[in-house]
Amino acid sequence: MPEQVLIIGSGIGGLTAGIILAQLQHPVTVVERNPQPGGLMRSYRRSGIDCPVGVHYLGALDRGQLLRQLWDALGVTPLIPLERMGAEGIVDRYIFDDFEFNLPAGIDAFEENLRRTFPEEQRQITMIMADLREISRSLSAFDFFLSPALSVFSPERFESMGERLLHLGCSIRLTAVLGVPAGLIGIPLRECPVYYYYMTLASYLLSSWRLVGSGTAMAESFVSQFQSLGGNIVAGDGVAAIQVEAGHVKGAILRSGRILPADVVIAAVHPETVLSLLPSDVVRPSYRERVAQLENTKGLLGVNAAVPADSHQALPYNVYRLYTEADGSLTRGIFHQLRASGQPGMNLLSMITTSSIEEWLPWEKTTSGRRGEDYKEAKEERARWLIDEAAELFGLREMNLLDVYSPLTIRDGVNSPGGSAYGVMRTTKQLMKVASLNRVLVKGLFLAGQNRLASGIMGTMLGSFQAVRQMIGHEKFIGEVAGRLI
Ligand SMILES: Cc1cc2nc3c(=O)[nH]c(=O)nc-3n(C[C@H](O)[C@H](O)[C@H](O)COP(=O)(O)OP(=O)(O)OC[C@H]3O[C@@H](n4cnc5c(N)ncnc54)[C@H](O)[C@@H]3O)c2cc1C
Repeated sequence: MPEQVLIIGSGIGGLTAGIILAQLQHPVTVVERNPQPGGLMRSYRRSGIDCPVGVHYLGALDRGQLLRQLWDALGVTPLIPLERMGAEGIVDRYIFDDFEFNLPAGIDAFEENLRRTFPEEQRQITMIMADLREISRSLSAFDFFLSPALSVFSPERFESMGERLLHLGCSIRLTAVLGVPAGLIGIPLRECPVYYYYMTLASYLLSSWRLVGSGTAMAESFVSQFQSLGGNIVAGDGVAAIQVEAGHVKGAILRSGRILPADVVIAAVHPETVLSLLPSDVVRPSYRERVAQLENTKGLLGVNAAVPADSHQALPYNVYRLYTEADGSLTRGIFHQLRASGQPGMNLLSMITTSSIEEWLPWEKTTSGRRGEDYKEAKEERARWLIDEAAELFGLREMNLLDVYSPLTIRDGVNSPGGSAYGVMRTTKQLMKVASLNRVLVKGLFLAGQNRLASGIMGTMLGSFQAVRQMIGHEKFIGEVAGRLI
């Protein structure tokens, strides 16, 4: 009999695991504490405009590329409306105080651009491109699914990218340009493992895309595909406790008191949340300690504003305004995306920058919608800084502020500790500690979502495939899941 599976969390991590297991004929229930499923994939609406939260752009979605193959395997590709970025040959424009760099579409074009911009650093660029191509090839070949080994990469793949650039003798400017992809996964370059660094960079270079039309289409596509395979979603009723009997999961108790029996529980939520749901005597103190000591990625401050489309055309690329220290390491970055809003005559400008939870401590004990006027003022003051800078950058004259979100919004919205945007921080320092969390704590309990393997849409989905592999075993995974990917 296929095991009855319960999944905690309906973000892309939970729904990916749910779809794969439903395809394998398991009866699956996904439990979501919010009234609407989708987690960070789901946008919110202000003045008739869908404002994105956790999906601004996606890499490797061209036919045959990694994320596209994952979507094809789940059957969601035709359901998600996308547009390709880079129509003018640029995917991202990096603007520093005294120079600019355009990240083009394509690995070869990236190499050409680096060689042209940094003619004195041909040796360094040759080494960097060799690493980038190797990791890109390996990712596209699904090496880490197909090999029964847990890691197919040699230990140097997990060394620090910042150190690597230092040893190569890269200039301050080249270091600054190459530092940006580490920021996209919330890790400082000097602590960013080489593997995660290249994985992120390669995915966007292979091809970059963004959603068009309704901001809820992606979440709804995953939900409808899951339901069409017989999957069941219980929304608006979070898991209050995971039941364990004789060392094996037995199901979950929801906040409403409802009991859902299960043979397997997949927790697509933060490990801290998982611990809070388990009976205290089933977890070794050393595991608890490891989780308590984990450093999470920082929170984000996001601003969404409507701008008139006749004076400010949508841009087919993102713009990053970047600030660096004397050694080229990034101190602050602001992401901008100016695209069609779905409302006639209006474009949507989304801006995001890091913001630590400490900035928001006065409202730490409040909940969304009830934080008071002073919180609103604090948000708007910070937003003003971003808006003024965007006004200068894009020559904006008119702008209608739609919304500002803070790390507290993310904390309360998706139950992310400290409002962390990308979950646990996979630095070189705590990589082993983070990886060890995936060892089975209690029989029948598995970790999925962005805290499993890597963050971002692609990293989260790969982590959920890995969780399924751990649950059903390597042989069955190769025969019944990975077969569809190759
Ligand atoms: C502002 C922002 C911008 C981003 N932009 C991009 C981007 O452009 N491209 C990209 O690739 N990635 C981006 N990311 C990262 C990406 O969105 C995440 O890595 C990914 O969506 C995480 O998915 P998840 O399923 O692990 O978590 P989530 O989407 O957070 O889902 C977890 C779900 O679990 C639910 N939950 C928690 N506790 C319980 C409980 N006790 N019971 C029931 N349910 C529970 C939560 O409510 C939530 O719905 C961005 C992230 C942020 C914050």
